[in-house]
Formats: sequence, C-alpha cells, structure tokens
Amino acid sequence: KLVLGIETSCDDTAAAVVDETGNVLGEAIHSQTEVHLKTGGIIPPVAQQLHRENIQRIVQEALSASRVSPSELSAIATTTKPGLALSLGVGLSFSLQLVDQLKKPFIPIHHMEAHALTIRLTNNVEFPFLVLLISGGHCLLALVRGVSDFLLLGKSLDIAPGDMLDKVARRLSLRKHPECSTMSGGKAIEHLAKQGNKLLFDLKPPMHRAKNCDFSFSGLQNVVDKIIKQKEKEEGIEVGQILSSAADIAAAVQHTTACHIAKRTHRAILFCQQRGLLAQTNAVLVASGGVASNLYIRKALEIVTNLTQCILLCPPPRLCTDNGVMIAWNGIERLRAGLGILHDTEGIRYEPKCPLGVDISKEVGEAA
Ligand code: ATP
Ligand code: FE
Repeated sequence: KLVLGIETSCDDTAAAVVDETGNVLGEAIHSQTEVHLKTGGIIPPVAQQLHRENIQRIVQEALSASRVSPSELSAIATTTKPGLALSLGVGLSFSLQLVDQLKKPFIPIHHMEAHALTIRLTNNVEFPFLVLLISGGHCLLALVRGVSDFLLLGKSLDIAPGDMLDKVARRLSLRKHPECSTMSGGKAIEHLAKQGNKLLFDLKPPMHRAKNCDFSFSGLQNVVDKIIKQKEKEEGIEVGQILSSAADIAAAVQHTTACHIAKRTHRAILFCQQRGLLAQTNAVLVASGGVASNLYIRKALEIVTNLTQCILLCPPPRLCTDNGVMIAWNGIERLRAGLGILHDTEGIRYEPKCPLGVDISKEVGEAA
C-alpha cells in the first residue's frame, strides 16, 4: 500500500508518499513562515495564494522523490478539517482534481488525528495511548483508543500555549534581543528563562481548582502583560525596549505554563488509569507539537509519567510540526483499518471547525 498525503490546513504546503510499513518514500514542504512573520500573523487570503502557487510543485516533488508513479498509489489522503477555510480549500480542490484524474480512492484526514497517530510511524505504540498536543494552534489531551476513536479529555478554553508564549515574547520584544532574534517566541522564552529566576513573580497556575482536564492560557497572558507594564514603569523604559527583568519574566511564564500542562496531564492519566482506560504500568503518553519541544515542559511531563509509571514519547521535531508525512501515514492507518475511504467524492467539503473525537471533559469533572 502506498498513500500520497497532502496538507494545507494552515501555513505549510506539504506532501509525502508513505508506504504501509511507515517508510517515507518522498516528501516536500513549503513553509510560509517568513512571509507571515513580516505581517505579524497569518493573513488567510495571503496563505491561500501561497498554497495555490506552491501546491502543484510540492506534490510533484514528493512524488518524484518517492519514485512512485501516480498509478501505483493506493489512495490520496488530504487534510479536510480543521483549519483555515481558505487554506483547506486549496488542498481539497487540488486533491479532488488529482483523485478524479487518477481514479484513486480519497481519504479525508482530520489534522489532529494525524498529529496524534504520527507516533505509530516512528515507534511501536499500541492502542490505547494518551496524547497531549501543544503548539501555536493546538491544545488538547485525548485518549487514542483506535485509528479514528478518540476520547477528548481536555482542550484549551481560550488560546493555545504556543500562542500565549508568542504573545508574551512579542510583548517583551524578544526579536530585538541579540540572543533570540531568530527564534520563535516559545523558543526565545525557553532560552531566556535559563538566565532568569522563576520565583521573582508569583504567577498562579490557571484553573488549579477546575475538576477537569481543560486548559486556559489567556488569563496568564493578561497577568504577564500587567507585570510587563509595571516593570516598564519601574525601569523607566519605553514599550519595545528590553526589560532588565525579561529573563525573570520568561522563567516565571515558562514555569507556570509547565506546571499547568503537567497538572492537567496528571489528572488525565489518573482518570484513565482509575477507570481502566489505560494500564497501571507502561501506558504511553505522547507529547507533540512545537511547545512539546520545550525541555523544561518535557521535564515537568517526565515527573508526571514517572509518578504514574507511564512512558513519555515524543515524535522527532520534524514530525511534531505540520507535515505531509503524518497525513499520508494517517491514510495508511485508515486503509489498514478500512475506515473513511471514499470512492465517490461527491459532496465532500472541508470543515474549518471540527472537534476531535467524543468529548467527555464533563464526565471527568463529575468524577473528580
Ligand atoms: P499547528 O498548531 O497548526 O501545528 P504551529 O505553527 O503552531 O501550527 P508548531 O510549529 O508545532 O505549529 O508550533 C509552533 C509553536 O511552538 C509556536 O507558538 C512556538 O512559539 C512554539 N515553540 C517552538 N519551540 C518552542 C520551545 N522550545 N518552547 C516553547 N514553545 C515553543
Ligand atoms: Fe498542526
């Protein structure tokens, strides 16, 4: 079995060909990050235009690199949900043309399902396992019971942690900091935090009383904003200059973020273990997404997995961010399970909003 995977849900145009055993035969990606950095965020029509300009070439590159002829493909898998409508639209219409031309089955892919299943390409992980997805756009905790069988244990009630870290980094003007000018916001915070004292600011972990596994980061962001304003006054500097306490603020934010993420994850593991949804020993927790590359946050997660006798696994960084490989692999998983393979694409639509799996965060609350 060979699947061509196509991803355009956000700001990366990506494609890959993957075989049944998880061999990546060819892959290509075009990142729009540089363009969006200049405008200070993604402007959907710009993202759409860039996807349009690049999709043909990226798919061609992935196919050529794989040395697979299109006629040998078993199916074409494409992200159809969730994501930016204009971006999803480009990938879907391109794929539908290809499907029509090649007369191949089509497999619509849920972007978060693909992120969650990636670990099965690199590691021998059986269902069920727990997954924590934390990035600039995602924040969720789910029990993965099968290829398309997810129990959503928690999600962010407002923004994702990477989004919060990026906003704090921007507010601290870390792009002007000589040591972090080329780093993403989260990476810059991690770097500066090493030089700071995390205890100088008393930040409360969000939702510490909430009896569920949900997350929240916008309250923390507001508190940090106020601290920064206060410090600017005290140090007598303008907005846009680097505070002398920037490293201490970075350390405090990182620490509080790590505590919050680890505590919610701990709750989720205990909930699953108590109900027999996860084994008492050697259950797997997968942490993925850009924020999971933060070593301080990983340490916090390790404390939790050690306490609960779980195993912490993280996909390699290049598979943690958006890519075509995870979409193709999700296609392989679905082919093997015989799930969601379409021979007729009439009426297929993209869905900008689409929660993953069954939500039981309320049940978790009642149980606690
Ligand atoms: P999506 O959410 O759709 O996958 P994304 O662009 O957010 O897209 P990622 O590349 O997985 O995807 O994550 C980027 C986010 O991760 C940014 O918010 C960035 O600040 C954050 N990040 C990257 N490195 C680190 C780090 N070392 N510590 C904390 N956060 C980090
Ligand atoms: Fe993603």
